[in-house]
Amino acid sequence: MTIDYNKLSVRIHLDNLRHNFRLYKKLHDNVIPVIKSDAYGHGLAEVCRALEPEGATTFAAGFVPEAAKLRETGCTARILALLGPVDDGDIELLFKHDVLAAISHLDQLKRVAAAAEQNGPLDIGLKFDTGMRRLGFRPDELDAAIDVIRGSRLNPVMATSHLASADVPEHRANVEGQIAAFQAMVDRLADAGYPVEANIANSAGALVFERCRMDSLRQGITLYGGNPFDGTELESLGREFLPAMEVTAPVMQVHDLKKGESISYGWTYTAEHDSTVAIIGVGYADNYSRKLSNAGEMLIHGKRAPIRGRICMQMTAVDVTGHMSEGLAVAPGDRAFLLGGPGPDAITPKELAGWWGTIDYEVFCLLGMNRRVYT
Ligand SMILES: *Cc1c(COP(=O)(O)O)cnc(C)c1O
Repeated sequence: MTIDYNKLSVRIHLDNLRHNFRLYKKLHDNVIPVIKSDAYGHGLAEVCRALEPEGATTFAAGFVPEAAKLRETGCTARILALLGPVDDGDIELLFKHDVLAAISHLDQLKRVAAAAEQNGPLDIGLKFDTGMRRLGFRPDELDAAIDVIRGSRLNPVMATSHLASADVPEHRANVEGQIAAFQAMVDRLADAGYPVEANIANSAGALVFERCRMDSLRQGITLYGGNPFDGTELESLGREFLPAMEVTAPVMQVHDLKKGESISYGWTYTAEHDSTVAIIGVGYADNYSRKLSNAGEMLIHGKRAPIRGRICMQMTAVDVTGHMSEGLAVAPGDRAFLLGGPGPDAITPKELAGWWGTIDYEVFCLLGMNRRVYT
């Protein structure tokens, strides 16, 4: 699955990840690292191994097979599959690999209950839809769910729900509405004889809304150093998180681009002055988006180098004219940082996402599919 035909290197700084986790441990004793989608591109097994000694006792994977895969790496913590079983194979894995799945609708619950008759008992989580409108039981479906559980070998141990816009400061009232709706459903479940661990907070919610911290928190993007409030009035809340991912690619060739000369496919960039360009060995085949054409920047020897012309499949040209005139000679074999880098001009996840036209989550997931090294 790893992209292995290239010269890209993704470095994961596990010490930064641990730092980011500890910041949340100060907020709450029970922090659940969200490690779905290969830990947002940072590596499922490696991230779990780094955080178990820090006191993480539950990890939140995505689909059930990802949770099972984590179990097979030797992880002994509780493993939650945020995305519950979608077929019979998934249901089998719950029993075989001791996975706690978030069950979100009645048909799924009945199928899991039927499987538990043979293989049970089984701990489950219940997912409540409090406004996201993707997955989950609605309030008017809760009684029917409780009826199924009552006659079954299922043992509900967790209730969960997801906030739609906790990272939007103006949506405060919506978030509070979701929290209240969730609390009401959790209370009904408890009244029916099922007191469970309740969690609704994601990274953004946990930082702002004390009320949503409940029995546990789910920490995703801030674990990896993203600031959910970048560019908002709450930006300072996420100031202390340190990006864990750095990405580099090699300089392949350096040459002049004279005034009036154009470069790369379609000749979409023409030099306005005599200049120098470096050809970097990275392109859209490495998940470095073509949307960065004439838009993004890289960091070479601590100085920014703007992208010139179109991103190609495995190559990208950057302008290093300023480097040459400042004595920061760029030569084949040097490494260009696409993300991160040393010094004050390091490329932040937010910046790269901005040039790319996306969010840091997608940048991490996509670039993280390249070969990784850990420090
Ligand atoms: C991805 C996810 C999270 C983590 O969200 P962040 O914004 O990255 O903190 C939490 N809960 C659920 C259900 C998710 O799918």
